[in-house]
Amino acid sequence: MTTNSPSRPHVPVVVVGAGPAGLTVGNILRAASVDCVVLETESREFIERRPRAGVIEEWAVRGLRQRGLADGLLERAERHSACEFRFAGERYRFSYTDLTGHHHWVYPQPLLVTDLVREYVDVRGGDARFSVRDVELHDLDTALPSVSYTDPETAERQVLTCDFVVGADGARGVSRAALAPERARIARHDYGIGWLALLAEAPPSSDCVLFGVHPNGFAGHMARSPEVTRYYLQCPPGDDPENWPDDRIWAELHERLAGGADAPPLTEGPLIEKRVLDMHDYVVEPMTYGRLFLAGDSAHLVAPIAAKGMNLALHDAFLLGDALVDYLDGGDGAGLDGYSEACLRRVWDYQEFSQWLSDVYHGTAAGDPFRGGTTFARLRRLFTSPTAAASFAEQYLGMAEHY
Ligand SMILES: Cc1cc2nc3c(=O)[nH]c(=O)nc-3n(C[C@H](O)[C@H](O)[C@H](O)COP(=O)(O)OP(=O)(O)OC[C@H]3O[C@@H](n4cnc5c(N)ncnc54)[C@H](O)[C@@H]3O)c2cc1C
Repeated sequence: MTTNSPSRPHVPVVVVGAGPAGLTVGNILRAASVDCVVLETESREFIERRPRAGVIEEWAVRGLRQRGLADGLLERAERHSACEFRFAGERYRFSYTDLTGHHHWVYPQPLLVTDLVREYVDVRGGDARFSVRDVELHDLDTALPSVSYTDPETAERQVLTCDFVVGADGARGVSRAALAPERARIARHDYGIGWLALLAEAPPSSDCVLFGVHPNGFAGHMARSPEVTRYYLQCPPGDDPENWPDDRIWAELHERLAGGADAPPLTEGPLIEKRVLDMHDYVVEPMTYGRLFLAGDSAHLVAPIAAKGMNLALHDAFLLGDALVDYLDGGDGAGLDGYSEACLRRVWDYQEFSQWLSDVYHGTAAGDPFRGGTTFARLRRLFTSPTAAASFAEQYLGMAEHY
């Protein structure tokens, strides 16, 4: 229950950020009747439309379902059973479901966020404050931290005291800044590569994800819905999307995703998103400081090379939501104590896989014949060695038994 002293209302948990991580934690807390406030700098309409991820791993969907958060997803998401590499003008289908019995789910992030907001606000009666400004965290190393922000309607500063702060405000939020160098280590990796991220109003041209490994650079094709397809084109980091008129984009996509005479042609359509992402990673260790617990992209950014970021955000949220409920219900706090370490094992595993996959995607475009040769060797091995194929499938699907 929110206790109201006129100036400093108190809630057990303040969640900063209404992305997949923050909303999932909020929903877990509300399901256990724990009060919390979710603070978000954008409007509800904006976060429900912001396009990003699409690929969700089976364990993550299971986790959402166990917490009553997967109804929309199970109704509308597509199941994928294979991906296809295209290189040297040929196509090589990798049927991971045949190999493992497991699959990927494809569900656009805006739909998941819409489901999570609706469940949190409209069904579970959660308190979410949108369009807030200038969020600041205070007294994190005390038993009574607080979060202040500017109310968008009154322009007044508001202060919430709490027992815990969840920093789920993504890569550009304020929470990570609270972990100064003497409080946490930030490990960074820069791939020195850019991706032109595109959304096309065009139906997918394949029933599976396509990876084009080409001397001009990587190209990717990922279904988002029956009407919309995400494409990626490797480009120089910091490149200007203006350098990529539509004709150039489609010409490069056709060339880099060429798969021989029997490959269906790409279906073209209006490009509704065109932006350059610089590929870089970071990991904050530990993910906690005092009463602040980071979750999702605020704690670890994984370049979208292996489509892992939202999956990791959900993994953190499951562990953190459950640990907070347990502690606030009188538990011994073991879940909170072990939270950072438990998250980081999977985080580092996924980072390593992204780095491996980056070498495969980008190796032939590096202008180095030696790297080109080893890249093709890696690719061929996936289709000639059952052991290599099994290992790739395990990492691609995130289905290792232990991390
Ligand atoms: C093009 C692209 C494709 C991707 N594809 C995939 C994929 O297929 N699979 C996958 O798993 N991942 C993918 N990702 C990564 C995925 O989108 C992110 O990892 C995921 O959004 C992280 O969720 P989050 O809740 O941690 O952070 P976010 O989704 O970034 O949410 C953080 C929220 O905090 C808000 N916020 C920011 N600052 C503040 C503040 N100061 N105060 C309050 N609120 C604040 C933001 O507005 C935002 O709503 C992709 C990313 C991109 C860019």
